[in-house]
Amino acid sequence: MLVNSAVITGKGADTAKVRSTDEIEQIRVLLQSRFDDLNAEYEQAVAENHRLRLVEIGDAAGDDQADSGSKTAERDAATSLLRTLLDRRTQAETAMQRLDEGTYGNCENCSNPIPVERLEVFPSATTCVHCKSNRERRAG
Ligand SMILES: [Zn+2]
Repeated sequence: MLVNSAVITGKGADTAKVRSTDEIEQIRVLLQSRFDDLNAEYEQAVAENHRLRLVEIGDAAGDDQADSGSKTAERDAATSLLRTLLDRRTQAETAMQRLDEGTYGNCENCSNPIPVERLEVFPSATTCVHCKSNRERRAG
């Protein structure tokens, strides 16, 4: 069976650099640990949100205006944190799916692999540093 080697050496192989299996594995570990962290933070935030709601229901009767105002602010902050964490968790999840499909971590402009160090800092990066600075120069 020569099917596999034909696919690997097929056309397009030399137009874009290919990321090594080691690097893909490194990115997978990176995304997984990010996902786990966000998941833990999210669950903590859900519990906190729940607690705030219970407190609110519990003392709503005796509240003066200022008190209930600060509680609302506290609850709003908790809710927006929840949303942010959920977004970031979904991003990490999507990134892992795209990594499996082989579409994650390549620059959308020059299609070269984005360096692992950059993905470590900006897991949602879609361009390499080179293309990003080019784009910013054009925009500015
Ligand atoms: Zn690029």
